[in-house]
Amino acid sequence: VFEYVTRAPDIPVYAVMVAYREDPSPFKLNLGIGVYRTEEGKPLLLNVVRKAEKLLVNELSANKEYLPITGLAEFNKLSAKLIFGADSSAIMENRVTTVHCLSGSGSLRIGAEFLAKHYHQRTVYMSQPTYANHPNFFVAAGITVKTYRYYDPTTCGLDFQGMLEDLGAASSGAIVLLQTCGHNPTGVDPNLEQWEQIRKLMRLKGLLPFFDCAYQGFVSSSLDADAQPVRMFVADGGECLTALSYSKIMGLYAERVGALSIVCKTADVASRVESQLKLIIRPMYSNPPIHGASIVTAILKDSPSIVTVILTYREMYGEWITELKAMTNRITSMRQQLYNALHDRAIPGDWSHITKQVGMFSLTGLNAEQVAFLTKEYHIYMSSDGRINLAGLSAKTVPYLADAIHAAVTH
Ligand code: PMP
Repeated sequence: VFEYVTRAPDIPVYAVMVAYREDPSPFKLNLGIGVYRTEEGKPLLLNVVRKAEKLLVNELSANKEYLPITGLAEFNKLSAKLIFGADSSAIMENRVTTVHCLSGSGSLRIGAEFLAKHYHQRTVYMSQPTYANHPNFFVAAGITVKTYRYYDPTTCGLDFQGMLEDLGAASSGAIVLLQTCGHNPTGVDPNLEQWEQIRKLMRLKGLLPFFDCAYQGFVSSSLDADAQPVRMFVADGGECLTALSYSKIMGLYAERVGALSIVCKTADVASRVESQLKLIIRPMYSNPPIHGASIVTAILKDSPSIVTVILTYREMYGEWITELKAMTNRITSMRQQLYNALHDRAIPGDWSHITKQVGMFSLTGLNAEQVAFLTKEYHIYMSSDGRINLAGLSAKTVPYLADAIHAAVTH
């Protein structure tokens, strides 16, 4: 009965990963997939995560019973606080509903499904370009995907005018997907004054903001500063959605832990919204897994209900911030080192965007042909749009990449 199933195309980012794995060259370099790497090129399991896991095994894991449909309640509260701030009036007024989902992807998918069922507008606008999986979450829910201008290839920076024009021309009430900080794939974020203009325009037109927060703390290494765009929208009293991911910021990729929040106008609306989210989640996977959310909860918890022999909760939070800062600082240092190396080689072109861009990614400005050259001649892997993951670099590999870019640009 399945003879007629046609082969689906490979998913580009995974195809790059497979090609890298199969390359026998000792010089090969993977700048494709968006995961953090240490200076030695290794995956990083945060020490604080190890400690939280020990704590769970030794003291907290009384059982593995099902969680409620909306997940671990304490995790939801802490996640809302992380994005909206400890003093958020929306939280205090119970206008926010937060559900524990399968990481950022699951939060976006559940959010899209909720909007398809309960929101009057079935069009979403997303930046051009955006994270490759973004359109899929909405298309799968039956929502029409359109784009707004965002990236200016001539400056490798923000096309702010284009963005405002396209949002200004968007159909009233449309959903707008925004990346809170550390934009994937461009590394280009609006500044706070620009965010304020975006906010005013969107509120004027009744556009609904849906924030993807996958890199909070990966830009300024201040969780509060990085969440500022979201908080500006929440402060005006209007609605918004947020999809929070712990994949990158706690290195919990495979635990699939994240949270969808929906900020409403009143507590009553928020509780009705939550009741509908349950109906969406129940037939999909019934309830989320407990382990990852328990790790996050142990780390974020700020009132030590028990003081353990390992660490108090407050210390764990501090330790996380230290490790988060170390990741962010290493990425920033890679930006500077790469820029210096490109500059030293007097490679044609202005490479200052490498240090102006922020977060884990840089859209280098290399074209598909130059990327193919880098892969063929230098065994350097990245997506064909020229996006590199700066965390895939180290002091040792930066000169090799700069030599390769020199050859790609001048050959
Ligand atoms: N949003 C953005 C912008 C991302 O870059 C990613 C992961 N690369 C995700 C969401 C989803 O990641 P996860 O499902 O692991 O949270």
